[in-house]
Amino acid sequence: MLKFTPILLAIVYALVMYHFSAWRTRRELDARSTELADPRLKKLTDRMAQALELPRIRVNIYEIDPVNGLAAPDGRIFITRGFYQKYRQGEVSAEELASVIAHELGHVALGHARRRMIDFSGQNAIRTALMMVLGRLIPGVGVWLANMLTSLLAAHLSRSDEYEADAYAAALLHKSGIGIAPQVSLFKKLEALTQSTHAAPAWLLSHPKTQDRISAIEAMGARWSTPET
Ligand SMILES: [Zn+2]
Repeated sequence: MLKFTPILLAIVYALVMYHFSAWRTRRELDARSTELADPRLKKLTDRMAQALELPRIRVNIYEIDPVNGLAAPDGRIFITRGFYQKYRQGEVSAEELASVIAHELGHVALGHARRRMIDFSGQNAIRTALMMVLGRLIPGVGVWLANMLTSLLAAHLSRSDEYEADAYAAALLHKSGIGIAPQVSLFKKLEALTQSTHAAPAWLLSHPKTQDRISAIEAMGARWSTPET
């Protein structure tokens, strides 16, 4: 029994950390967000809601500057003030912003948002648990191995999540009659922005290579546009 105590403690620690970070995220988002009310965008989100057979899609503005879209663990969708500003200034079109909303809806629908809390905020807890276990089994190398495994796991999870959310968004945009063109053009814009300023928008940082994502979306578009025989 004594042998397992550290493992049990690590699991309890991980659970407490998970709930604490979920609570903290919710509180931060509540305090710094308002519902987005933009008639042009609403027209587009209403079309997506119709395609999903939902009464409406609620989108919130999160009052921070970095260009980002996010899906909270409780299923709410947020667009940052910085991203909305780009749209207001005409740098990003309403359809392009709708493609970000569609992508975040994908994270919610596919259950990524909840899991991501574990990826990001709870990552340390997983690392600690692994260190305790591996550190006992293989002293010295165990710690290094735990670090590597945690990073690998997180990178793998977030990568496949992005492709899945992109695919969901492409299908939703296609079904709503908005099409996948804005999804592709936004990627190109954001990448150009990255190259000129060397400061990647947060929204791209945690995501796989832009060109690979564009290719995956275009391949889906090509399949949908060929008439079925
Ligand atoms: Zn994403």
